[in-house]
Amino acid sequence: MGWVLGVDVGASRLRVGLYSIDEARLVAKKMAPTPRSGDRMAVARRIVELAESLFQERGFTGDLEGVGVSSIGPLDLARGEIVGTPNNPLRPFPMRDPLEKRFRTRVRIANDCVAAVWGEKVLGEGGRYTDLAYITISSGIGGGFIVSNRLIEGRRGNAHEVGHLVVEVDSNLRCGCGGRGHWEALASGSALPRLATLHAAGWRGPMTPALELARRGSLDPPLLYKLAREGDKFALSVVRRTNRYHAAGLAGVIAAYDPEVIFMGGSVFLENQDLILPDVVSLLEDYSLYRKPPPLRPATFGHDAPLMGAIGLVLYPPEDTVGKTAPSSDVSRDG
Ligand SMILES: [Zn+2]
Repeated sequence: MGWVLGVDVGASRLRVGLYSIDEARLVAKKMAPTPRSGDRMAVARRIVELAESLFQERGFTGDLEGVGVSSIGPLDLARGEIVGTPNNPLRPFPMRDPLEKRFRTRVRIANDCVAAVWGEKVLGEGGRYTDLAYITISSGIGGGFIVSNRLIEGRRGNAHEVGHLVVEVDSNLRCGCGGRGHWEALASGSALPRLATLHAAGWRGPMTPALELARRGSLDPPLLYKLAREGDKFALSVVRRTNRYHAAGLAGVIAAYDPEVIFMGGSVFLENQDLILPDVVSLLEDYSLYRKPPPLRPATFGHDAPLMGAIGLVLYPPEDTVGKTAPSSDVSRDG
């Protein structure tokens, strides 16, 4: 009997799952809010608590083959830390050392999208491809890539921050990173209320419930897509605009990485595929370098894509590259 512990450190949620190698499946899972206060060990401590309660419930006493962690970034993989995330005030916080100490096994860490694309390759429906992309559209936008069968991690584990591709040159909307016109600043879940308010200022169509909400700055993703589904003309127009940004961002991804397939995940995408996918596919034919762009497919494991990716890192370890080219003392800690 072999077991792997998978951990997904999200901006708002922690997911911890126990995977049975014999049964080739996730047998149990627990979720909790990601700690945002306390000391630097708060996140690792919460993960250990979740894992221990999972073990207790399952009567699990055996040893783990390993622990895989997928996390919001930026990371410093040489140190095993999450260093500069704008999404959690506890940064930087350690991950590898406290988990290795508690579970007495190797801990592998990757950026959440990097883990997710690896999960598609080794556990999901991406096995037959050599060139894969995984894109998340969630509170943020990010990507993970396998190029010629090689998982790309970058020097510190922070390669390809594609959410910061510019998709609108005249935009006044600032990204969390400080730049203007970034894909994530315009079309991520956290950006949508601001984008809707901006869209309302130039709207010449009829008064609608979505327009009223947008003028108050409260047209959040669940309301936006719900009203669009009900035929609200303003909501549909905002969705169309975000779909154009998604298509522009994906066209950049295709030009840069030449993937055979793009797996799509993240809560905004997964919960609203009906309004996003067909439109983006048809726009992409217009924006992309190729008249026949690669297929877009929903993530094999849905919301668990980063968690399953973390498990995949342990079961089928990618080549170690991070930390080998630069000593950690060279690593900037400001992310
Ligand atoms: Zn940015």
